[in-house]
Amino acid sequence: MENKKELRKWLDDMALPHPLVIAGPCSAETEDQVLKIAHDLKDTDVNYYRAGIWKPRTRPGNFEGVGSIGLKWLQKVKEETGLKTATEVANKNHVDLALEHDVDLLWIGARSTVSPFIVQEIADALEGTDKVVLVKNPVNPDLSLWLGAVERLASANIEKLGVIHRGFSTYEKTKYRNIPEWQLAIELQSRFPDLPLINDPSHITGKRDMIFDVSQTALDLNFDGLMIETHYDPDNAWSDAAQQITPKRLVQIMQDLRIRKETDEEAEYNSKINNLRTQIDVIDNQLIDTLGKRMKVSDEIGQLKKKRNVAVLQTNRWNAILGNMILEGEQRGLSEEFVLRMFKAIHQESINHQEKIINA
Ligand code: PEP
Ligand code: MN
Repeated sequence: MENKKELRKWLDDMALPHPLVIAGPCSAETEDQVLKIAHDLKDTDVNYYRAGIWKPRTRPGNFEGVGSIGLKWLQKVKEETGLKTATEVANKNHVDLALEHDVDLLWIGARSTVSPFIVQEIADALEGTDKVVLVKNPVNPDLSLWLGAVERLASANIEKLGVIHRGFSTYEKTKYRNIPEWQLAIELQSRFPDLPLINDPSHITGKRDMIFDVSQTALDLNFDGLMIETHYDPDNAWSDAAQQITPKRLVQIMQDLRIRKETDEEAEYNSKINNLRTQIDVIDNQLIDTLGKRMKVSDEIGQLKKKRNVAVLQTNRWNAILGNMILEGEQRGLSEEFVLRMFKAIHQESINHQEKIINA
């Protein structure tokens, strides 16, 4: 995928004074519910009104969406409130119906992004569309799979593209519903700085009281927008009840978020910080290089010990090194605790190397 400015033109053209906001219920439930939430969001920062029409559910038997009737309700939302509309599509039939009903933004859900067959089917159905298409990350943390989906859409001449980070599934129990892999999002940004990156704190957290913090982290990492599930009666929502927030709470969150804008001052700050970061990168490389050299010497010691049948660990020698380094560190403003931890790690690596040599 080429890295081209046109990828984010649709977003830049909106000239928003705040991050892009996509909000609305997890699922369209009834016409009244869809319209009531839309009216509550009408005069807020919300740019696109979302509602799931076809719901991918992990287990059958849960509410699976109202189906295409919901598209009529979204059309009504646009007529009555002027809000642009957004929904998830998971096959060609969904795409055809969504386009017929003039949905403005279509997204591919996490369970679809994992399947190149489905993504290709959707890309073919969308060929050449001028609608915005966003790709949620696949449920598993695989950057290639995610980028592959974007590439399939780009190859189908879809120009208004972007991605949504909604966290990744794990077997471990964590405080998140889906773990945010911030490192992966940062890598994506550095490889494709022009690909708009949206955060979905609702599906990341699964809990409404964590939405603010995750949104703030996302903005601090230069995400371009947020997708937040919003319902006038979150507790009684037909899907994802625990993570939805009220329109009022959404407005409060948007007010409280620290939003970073690039000003001239910012540009000067950025150039200074980039310079300092480059210096840090150089020093870090030297550190790794030095550690590598240290380990080579330690390997030679291992060879000698093997020949003479001497034990790997010599406690006296090790304590002397540590004492020395704590003093040296102190003179350079490094805490005893840090020096101890660092040298223990270095020493452990030396021991691992020497054990290998002696047991070889
Ligand atoms: C959704 O946005 O309602 C949804 C189903 O999301 P995801 O694909 O991230 O699970
Ligand atoms: Mn949901």
